[in-house]
Amino acid sequence: MIRAEVAIIGAGPAGTAAALRLGQLGVRDVVLVDRADFPRDKTCGSGVSPRGIRTLRELGVWDEIAPQAYRVAGLRLVTPGDRELYLSGGDRTAAIVCRRRTLDHVLLERARALGVRFVPNFPVAELRQEGGRVVGFVGRDGREVAARQTIVADGAHSRFTVDRRPPRLMHAIMGWWEGVPFTAHHVEMVFDRLVTPGYGWMFPESDSRVNIGICYEDPELRLNGRRVFQDFLDKHYARRLRGATPVGAFKGHPIACAFRIGRLGSPGRLVVGEAGRMVHPATAEGISQGMRSGVLAAETLAPVLAGLRDERSVIATYESRCRRAFGLSFRAARLWRAAVNSSALDRVVAAVERPAVKTALGRLMATM
Ligand SMILES: Cc1cc2nc3c(=O)[nH]c(=O)nc-3n(C[C@H](O)[C@H](O)[C@H](O)COP(=O)(O)OP(=O)(O)OC[C@H]3O[C@@H](n4cnc5c(N)ncnc54)[C@H](O)[C@@H]3O)c2cc1C
Repeated sequence: MIRAEVAIIGAGPAGTAAALRLGQLGVRDVVLVDRADFPRDKTCGSGVSPRGIRTLRELGVWDEIAPQAYRVAGLRLVTPGDRELYLSGGDRTAAIVCRRRTLDHVLLERARALGVRFVPNFPVAELRQEGGRVVGFVGRDGREVAARQTIVADGAHSRFTVDRRPPRLMHAIMGWWEGVPFTAHHVEMVFDRLVTPGYGWMFPESDSRVNIGICYEDPELRLNGRRVFQDFLDKHYARRLRGATPVGAFKGHPIACAFRIGRLGSPGRLVVGEAGRMVHPATAEGISQGMRSGVLAAETLAPVLAGLRDERSVIATYESRCRRAFGLSFRAARLWRAAVNSSALDRVVAAVERPAVKTALGRLMATM
């Protein structure tokens, strides 16, 4: 039996950010478990937006992440009507692409340096409950963790989330290549009818390596993801992939998102990151939201654990902080999706010779 003040299930960006922030706030006896050992890979485009960079700075890990990440200064956008647009910000770092093997591990190691105890190879089988309160969890091998507070950060397939609504799922499939030509320091987002309201992307991970993927909706599971991906590659990347070398096999993974943030807690339990469906429903961005919700959970719990605040308000406070952080941008996703599904995005891009339109579109893409 491991005893802890706070026990966290899952060491992705949400769980590690929560652990790190708890450590920074002086909370002792924090245990973080994951079914995997680290460093580990995670199927992900690994793009981190300006908001995510802000959180990395706040968490004090930016100086370690930046040299290991690929700097993004601009975007190549392709519309459903096949219009192409470059939005470039010069030397400024607008975003980064940082492989998850690196990003998650840096966050984890920083949390460990602050005293967080990490237990790898710990697949959680069930939560322990007493009198309607979550009091820890049990591993598949029978190991137990008893905790005053449990943070659930187990990602898209979450088994321990509170929200019982059927998740809105996007499907994603991606691959990696060496030697694809691209405009340095630019990511690509391709809105094609094959996948709208989702999109395809190409994100450079280094000077020579890129990842390319698609995310799309298919509520009735009628599509063959590999075939759609191949059609997408043939249409948009065939020429550039001709001299490139694939790295490993294609990987698929669902993405759980929501337009509206639902329930994120029950007595003794807070849910963070994709387990709480805090992924942007238009861009499928979840790293930044995962880290931010982890920070918000830690900042909500710390004063309660220190006896400075009543526990009864914890869930409502945390939920309202998450709604404030993500509500507007998640709701705006509906407008973006409508623009992509209609000819509106094409019309905006057609009007982009006007500098004001270009600036506004650049800002929108950066803040969405
Ligand atoms: C193909 C694809 C591309 C994407 N591209 C981007 C992108 O470019 N930018 C972006 O911001 N987002 C992207 N996302 C979304 C992003 O990957 C996720 O939203 C983000 O990882 C969520 O972080 P998290 O910490 O909530 O969960 P995760 O990162 O999924 O971490 C969950 C952790 O919990 C562990 N775990 C799960 N179950 C258990 C259990 N029972 N016991 C113990 N441990 C457990 C897992 O091993 C894992 O380490 C992409 C997603 C996909 C699928």
